[in-house]
Amino acid sequence: MRKYITLLSVSASLFISSSTIAQRVNQCGIIIPPKSLQSNFQSVYEARGYINTMLDSINWKENFNLEEQNGINNAYATIIRNKRYIVYDNDFLENLDGYAGTKWASISVLAHEMGHHYRNHVVDTRGSTPPKEIEADYFSGYVMAKLGARKNEALAAMEKIASPTASSTHPAKAQRLTAITNGWNYAMGISTTNNPTTAPQPQKNPPPASDDASWIYLSLYGNADMNVYLSDNGKDYTSAPLKTNQPFVFKFEVYNHGWLRFADKSGPTFKLLHGKDYAIIWSRRSNNWTVIPVP
Ligand SMILES: [Zn+2]
Repeated sequence: MRKYITLLSVSASLFISSSTIAQRVNQCGIIIPPKSLQSNFQSVYEARGYINTMLDSINWKENFNLEEQNGINNAYATIIRNKRYIVYDNDFLENLDGYAGTKWASISVLAHEMGHHYRNHVVDTRGSTPPKEIEADYFSGYVMAKLGARKNEALAAMEKIASPTASSTHPAKAQRLTAITNGWNYAMGISTTNNPTTAPQPQKNPPPASDDASWIYLSLYGNADMNVYLSDNGKDYTSAPLKTNQPFVFKFEVYNHGWLRFADKSGPTFKLLHGKDYAIIWSRRSNNWTVIPVP
């Protein structure tokens, strides 16, 4: 019985897609995939897991919420009431995987949306532009390599669903495949010679985004990884894992500064300004950890 219902709904959607919504393109310039019988993408929990793995792979503190919304047939990055979100429809991601024939497809779309937040694209209200999409694609390629995807797997989604032609909001498919390839190559340590004719060029080194003044860098000078507590409103502190070998990148959302503590509820509070780098070092004078701006 269940099978019967599934088949019915699939044929109905095929009928619709071949007539009215055949070439529906979302805000990121990707063609909405047709409904799929095959379903690899299990649940919101799975999306959560991938996002966490991606964040770990670039040592980035998440600054967005992940929100599942059924029926929108889409995935996108947005800001609602000063909070960042990646909103996605589970069915959309499943269909994408089915259509592209690989589970990496949905992961790469999540990575792309994450790239929009990482690159601060949704702060202005101008919406999608080709340069933004190229940067998000590049970021996706980079993160996919970090996750262990092969190049063709990183490209799989865009290969199938990118709109072939450019528009005012998104680049042509060929440029996007190049951007993903460049990001993937960069993460793998393969140098690329970018073709200047495939404008606009993505930033050479996406994570961390040193050219963006709104990011705060924290470098830990110590022998062991440690947790600090960060706040963007001065009241609520969240734990942030610092690693000794990698700068930690954080963006405060509410003001142009934030706060850091070494303990959740007590102890001295350090104010951190946007666009500055900070070193976390052991102070022999106070016999405690301290935060100093790096000139
Ligand atoms: Zn996009």
